Amino acid sequence: MALIVLKFGGTSVADIERIECVADKIVRETLAGNEVVVVVSAMSGVTNQLVDYCRQISGIHDASEYDVVVSSGEQITAGLLCIAIHKKGLRARSWMGWQIPIISNDTHSKARIESIETAALHERLEYGEVVVVPGFQGVTEKKRITTLGRGGSDTSAVAIAAALGADRCDIYTDVDGVYTADPRIVPEARKIERISYEEMLELASLGSKVLQTRSVEMAAKSGVTIQVLSSFSDEVGSALKGTLVVNEDEIVEQEIVTGIAHSKDEAKVTVVGVKDVPGVAAGIFEPLAKVAVSVDMIVQNISVDGYTDMTFTVAKTDLALALKTLEEDMEINYKKVITEENVVKISVVGIGMQSHAGVANTMFRTLGEKGINIQVISTSEIKISVLIDSDYTELALRALHEAYGLGADPA
Ligand code: ADP
Ligand code: ASP
Ligand code: MG
Repeated sequence: MALIVLKFGGTSVADIERIECVADKIVRETLAGNEVVVVVSAMSGVTNQLVDYCRQISGIHDASEYDVVVSSGEQITAGLLCIAIHKKGLRARSWMGWQIPIISNDTHSKARIESIETAALHERLEYGEVVVVPGFQGVTEKKRITTLGRGGSDTSAVAIAAALGADRCDIYTDVDGVYTADPRIVPEARKIERISYEEMLELASLGSKVLQTRSVEMAAKSGVTIQVLSSFSDEVGSALKGTLVVNEDEIVEQEIVTGIAHSKDEAKVTVVGVKDVPGVAAGIFEPLAKVAVSVDMIVQNISVDGYTDMTFTVAKTDLALALKTLEEDMEINYKKVITEENVVKISVVGIGMQSHAGVANTMFRTLGEKGINIQVISTSEIKISVLIDSDYTELALRALHEAYGLGADPA
């Protein structure tokens, strides 16, 4: 008998028909002799609607109450799924984050899980009951509800799998695995059979939303093997060939470039006309750090007559707060602040990149040949990112995918 955690994302539970299909998969896994814990997302579109309700009242709102609102979508799915499982003759019970409890820190809207109480869950599983947990939810020591950041149900699933010592964590979604690029934008993208935690972490953090970054981080740390697979197939679990996220040493063939990620979640900010003297960068970035606005890519222009411009990117969701902070708390002199939201960050990722020259050059040449201007560049050992006009997203992704030969079958 295996203990398996199955996670179903928004499109997999989008309506009653889809929820009944999910119930069917759970019944099949249970009748095959497994103990089953299910983690569900809100029905597709629901979380966006809830986020929008908060924004309609105020652009900058209380994060604790935001969590009360947006965590509710998952509760609905959990209850509906239990009712659907009951209809098929099996025992099932839902467990909200606060009931388990899934204790998190108090960083509302992007909380981190700290511990999960598992004794009661094990007891229910032994009794033969399916355990259904709404993803995305946590609760602080002081009993305030938290959420784990967008896409956080993946992290709930991996955290529960780790805490219960599950044999498998199957993440069911609307694609049948992790691809070399978002298959909705690059039709030539190829499914990857096995990907290392490290590369998946990089792809996820650079915008491949198929898994939330923290879920990969947690899987790597706790050794949980994630399988990404489609909920739209008739098959379940081990019979399906999705993508396995595993340790690097379990991958035989290392590619130079494994995949390409893109993110439209960032906005570009330029502080124009600051004095080019020591301490200027600190003068800009310290106030932002104080209000927990993370800065990603940074470039400083060449100085003219002792003055320069500083360009950087922040999450679009942090833009309003970043601008308010710069205006109110920045102590250095500047001429003006310009923002640009019509940008996309495109990143090529691969462990093999560390030992191969020319990867960056291929990227720059390919974009240049397509007439695409690069606004900002940043690199690390296993990735290169560029910021470009978002109108060129598809063109750039497809051209780069071809330039790195990602569509071809691996040797
Ligand atoms: P869920 O609602 O199941 O959590 P998400 O929408 O969060 O699903 O993630 C699945 C989506 O991730 C896919 O529909 C796909 O468009 C997108 N995606 C982005 N990059 C990739 C990639 N490299 N491989 C697979 N899917 C990707
Ligand atoms: N419903 C949440 C979201 O849309 C969490 C999740 O689905 O993973 O971000
Ligand atoms: Mg998701």
